[in-house]
Amino acid sequence: MPSEAFAPLKIVADCIFCASCVAECTVRSVNPEYLGPAALAKAYRFVGDPRDHATQERLALYSQPNGIWDCDTCLYCNDVCPKGVKPLDAILRMREAAIEHGLVDNLGARHALAFSETVMKSGKLNEARTAIRSIGLGQFLKPGSGNVQLAVKTAMKGKAPELRKKPIEGMDEVRVLVAAARRMRAAKKP
Ligand code: SF4
Ligand code: SF4
Repeated sequence: MPSEAFAPLKIVADCIFCASCVAECTVRSVNPEYLGPAALAKAYRFVGDPRDHATQERLALYSQPNGIWDCDTCLYCNDVCPKGVKPLDAILRMREAAIEHGLVDNLGARHALAFSETVMKSGKLNEARTAIRSIGLGQFLKPGSGNVQLAVKTAMKGKAPELRKKPIEGMDEVRVLVAAARRMRAAKKP
């Protein structure tokens, strides 16, 4: 295996299964069905291995509810791990890989893509568009979902998010920088 591919796996392989991260996980504390940081860090041991031939199947499995998209990125697992495993980093790498493998038909991936798309348009997060794109317009407007009522209530309080955001100054430079950063990342990938 090339050394640049092994480096992140080596960190994950250092896990001693102490479960400190699981005990501290904010999502596990409210949802015991969530796979949790230790299991997902271990999952990355295989997803990130270029010799593995089941990456697509594994990522499809971990993209299901209670998997990689249920983490709220609170960072506690990275903080408490005595071995420096950084389970959150492994989860984020798997999210990226899942999108790259076309596994985008789920709430988490749609939200990540909509978030990034709106930021790349204006330099600011467009909360309204991100919410609608994440759950889909049909679901957003579905009677009984409460979304329309919430939007009206928010607007009445003067807090309605703008549907169009004016681009920030220097947005063209931001796009050039992001494109360069993406090229550099792609070049580094084994
Ligand atoms: S970052 Fe995610 S996996 Fe880690 S403790 Fe927080 S919710 Fe749990
Ligand atoms: S805290 Fe670190 S060493 Fe302990 S189970 Fe979690 S990832 Fe493994």
